[in-house]
Amino acid sequence: MSTPSSTAYPVLVIGGGISGLACAYHLRQAGIPVYALEAGSRAGGFITTKERDGFRFELGPQSFLSTEPLLALIDALGLKEQLLHANPRAPRYILVRGQLVPAPLTPPSLLTTSLFAAGTKWRLFTEILRRTHPPEDDESIAAFVRRKFGTELLDRLVAPFVSGVYAGDPERLSMRAAFPKIHEFETRHGSVLRGAMKSRPAKGAPRSGLCSFRDGMETLPRAIAARLGGSLLLDTCVAGVRHGKTNGKPWFEVDIVRHEHRETLAASAVILATPTDVASQILESLSDRFAPLFSRFEYAPVAVVSACYRREQIQRPLDGFGFLVPRGEGLRVLGTVFSSSLFAGRAPKGMFCFTSFAGGATDPQFCELPEDKIAETICAEVAPVLGISGKSVATNLRRYARALPQYNLGHSRNVQSLEALTASMPGLFLAGNYLSGPSVGACVEQAYRTAEAARVYLASIGVAGVGDIAHA
Ligand SMILES: Cc1cc2nc3c(=O)[nH]c(=O)nc-3n(C[C@H](O)[C@H](O)[C@H](O)COP(=O)(O)OP(=O)(O)OC[C@H]3O[C@@H](n4cnc5c(N)ncnc54)[C@H](O)[C@@H]3O)c2cc1C
Repeated sequence: MSTPSSTAYPVLVIGGGISGLACAYHLRQAGIPVYALEAGSRAGGFITTKERDGFRFELGPQSFLSTEPLLALIDALGLKEQLLHANPRAPRYILVRGQLVPAPLTPPSLLTTSLFAAGTKWRLFTEILRRTHPPEDDESIAAFVRRKFGTELLDRLVAPFVSGVYAGDPERLSMRAAFPKIHEFETRHGSVLRGAMKSRPAKGAPRSGLCSFRDGMETLPRAIAARLGGSLLLDTCVAGVRHGKTNGKPWFEVDIVRHEHRETLAASAVILATPTDVASQILESLSDRFAPLFSRFEYAPVAVVSACYRREQIQRPLDGFGFLVPRGEGLRVLGTVFSSSLFAGRAPKGMFCFTSFAGGATDPQFCELPEDKIAETICAEVAPVLGISGKSVATNLRRYARALPQYNLGHSRNVQSLEALTASMPGLFLAGNYLSGPSVGACVEQAYRTAEAARVYLASIGVAGVGDIAHA
């Protein structure tokens, strides 16, 4: 790499998680010379697949929703053959007084489920007949569900679901930020059900489902990294970004530490695709207004425990996706995915493997316990639910102090403030899971929008080699 005195790169992407990789990939498809700088020794960030003793553990996301942009990316990367689809009919369970009850996900099952009393069912089915409007102020998910459907739906279905997606606290998560579609249904149609029915996909349109890859989730970042080749610089930690000017031209100076050597690179545009705490440090010397804004974004800690058993150790049929645990059950485990039932190739023949999540915004202290205590507690809680006897054959634990950004009350306003400040610095762009959804698919879509904005900016300042986009 060159020093700023010799070359200015059109654009540098900081962070090689799925957000940064998707940004770099999109720009490269547009024919723009791009470098992605990743502090770690591998690409993918949270997307991590670990193979050990014939087991395949997912240490971060277990699956992704097959949205159109993700499927197009998978196709362009030549990964279609490796795609695995989870059985769309696989039941999801809710733990109620120690028993697994199928989660009611269709209108008929809502009617027959033992999860809710008649009053809750009545409120659910008659919601379409009432016209309501969300309050002007940001409303928490808990307040929204209580207002529309009552406490039972919140405690038994919505709260466990919310801990499954955000590891979040429904009393603090913002309805409009965390589930913008549902908020919009009520705003536009006065009823969530009416809105949902009106925006139903046309008959015959492909439905999205849960997917992974034969060799695990890390297949996706590995394939993007392979396409980026030498443009992805691993073991390259960005320490700071400053404004620079040479020959009257403004640009960014990017301080990096690579193989213990400090270097400064110059770029016309910079895309920051790191978590907010890192972004805050990196942008410190650009403006002291970033730090107070970034500090408003909270993250929840999560412990991910995988445990493997021989089939004969387990009494319960292991059909389905897994189960979620309402807080009222008094357990530390938030939810469990039946990893080896969901996708082939996660465990050797005759073995079963599950992955549980614990901690989150409602029980952050759990993640601070010693590692063996965390794994032991989770295995002891899951064992009676699945009828497991004896010790696990293998376990794996990974915990993250800052796992998932919390789309809490005020989140949309915080994002707007951050985006306004960023927009006041032409050439600076943000990407990442704290902006418009934490899922892998949302990160990719957000990254494409950011990369496209960077491309338009580069074209507007006449950076060489930047033309119209050629899509894969
Ligand atoms: C436990 C868990 C389970 C999840 N389950 C699912 C799921 O089932 N389905 C789903 O769709 N989503 C799931 N998610 C969410 C999804 O995985 C993440 O939101 C997404 O992977 C985040 O990608 P990212 O690129 O924005 O951030 P990250 O993955 O955090 O990537 C940021 C990158 O920046 C790098 N970096 C940091 N500092 C620097 C620096 N100074 N210089 C250069 N590089 C730096 C990091 O090393 C990292 O690689 C889960 C997340 C977690 C934590």
